[in-house]
Amino acid sequence: MYFDKVEELDRNELEKLQVERLKKTIEQASNSPYYSEVFKNNNIDSSLIKTADDIKKLPFTTKEDLRSQYPYGLLTKSLDEFVRLHASSGTTGTPTAVFYTQKDLDTWADLMARSMYAVGVRRSDVLQNMSGYGLFTGGLGIHYGSERLGCLTVPAGAGNTKRQIKLIRDFNVTTLHIIPSFALYFAGKVKAEGYDPAEMPWKIALIGAEPHTELTRKKIEEMLHIKAYNSYGLSEMNGPGVAFECTEQDGMHIWEDSFIAEIINPETGEHVPDGEIGELVMTTITREGMPIIRYRTRDLTRFIPGKCKCGRTSRRIDRIAGRADDMLIIKGVNIYPMQIEKIIMAIPEVGENYLIELYREGFIDQIKVKVEIKEQYFVEDMRALQGLQKLIANKLRDEILVTPRVELVQHNSIEKSEGKAQRVIDTREVEK
Ligand code: AMP
Ligand code: ZN
Repeated sequence: MYFDKVEELDRNELEKLQVERLKKTIEQASNSPYYSEVFKNNNIDSSLIKTADDIKKLPFTTKEDLRSQYPYGLLTKSLDEFVRLHASSGTTGTPTAVFYTQKDLDTWADLMARSMYAVGVRRSDVLQNMSGYGLFTGGLGIHYGSERLGCLTVPAGAGNTKRQIKLIRDFNVTTLHIIPSFALYFAGKVKAEGYDPAEMPWKIALIGAEPHTELTRKKIEEMLHIKAYNSYGLSEMNGPGVAFECTEQDGMHIWEDSFIAEIINPETGEHVPDGEIGELVMTTITREGMPIIRYRTRDLTRFIPGKCKCGRTSRRIDRIAGRADDMLIIKGVNIYPMQIEKIIMAIPEVGENYLIELYREGFIDQIKVKVEIKEQYFVEDMRALQGLQKLIANKLRDEILVTPRVELVQHNSIEKSEGKAQRVIDTREVEK
């Protein structure tokens, strides 16, 4: 049934395992320059941890802390012991680098293989990895997991749709790993190339690495004729394989034997009541080379109460609602890009892509949403298009409480990045 028997461990046993591993993690972490200092200043050692809840006694680690320690401040061993590094996709400032020992890579590959198994991927499957390789963890992370599971693995990398389709057809690819925004674009291309998605060999898509709504998932499933499963991870916690859906598609199981997850109120740092949305905080408990304690992910989600029908005992998180630092403030109103995606993806005429533009007119903030319209609707008469534009603007206003300008644009006219999509362009700062 499961890849690893730990997936059905009862909660008491699981917590015992977490406590034991957390204590060991504190001991290991104290070998790094950063944590040895932090622990000394806060009188922390592993004897503080008696129950899983005692994790609250440990200080948070933020992205800024990691940046200030760039590149080696969190390493617990000499550089000779490390065999790989990855870096976070952040486009501004100092990046954050994560280092792995061979043992860490093995643990990661096991977690990834377990994740794929949970959505029905088996060693007889052929997996095409359509995300970028390089420093981004979605390349090698998925790659080694797929090999660990025993799948024939096609390291296609990002972009080049025609070649992707050829590889898929030639090698009977059954499983795709693809970023959601690219999946929508790709689905359009498959049709444009004259292929019927229902005739393609694929069955399963692993989609993740960027926020997307349930409606986007549905759209990907319908357009590609595939089952799409949400995959969550971040470089600071290895990469993908932190939390993954099972075939129930009802939240993502956190692999709690490797990570301790908490959800806090980002203002107070206190745990929120179960089921309430807050900031996800993660601690590695099986990483030896670069353990990270109580990492503030900035990702907003909630624990899904209750047990999953699949029988796995690990807790689940809901799809990521956005990032604490994604919040847009327009005319004093707080808006998350996912609120906008939720509305526009529910409108049948809307195609695969959109872009949110924020700018200033005089002293006033404006928000414009560019929306790609399916080809067959774009040829309609002016009045129908104006009606559609108005409808979208009204629906958005009801959700975000600000009336946006809506611009309907042609299919495939918004520039598509090969990696994570850039959904927001904010020129307000420069105009100040
Ligand atoms: P990176 O470490 O550069 O790969 O970026 C990790 C970040 O990508 C996470 O902190 C999330 O903000 C985002 N992310 C990854 N997977 C998902 C997912 N399944 N849904 C939403 N956001 C995700
Ligand atoms: Zn499940």
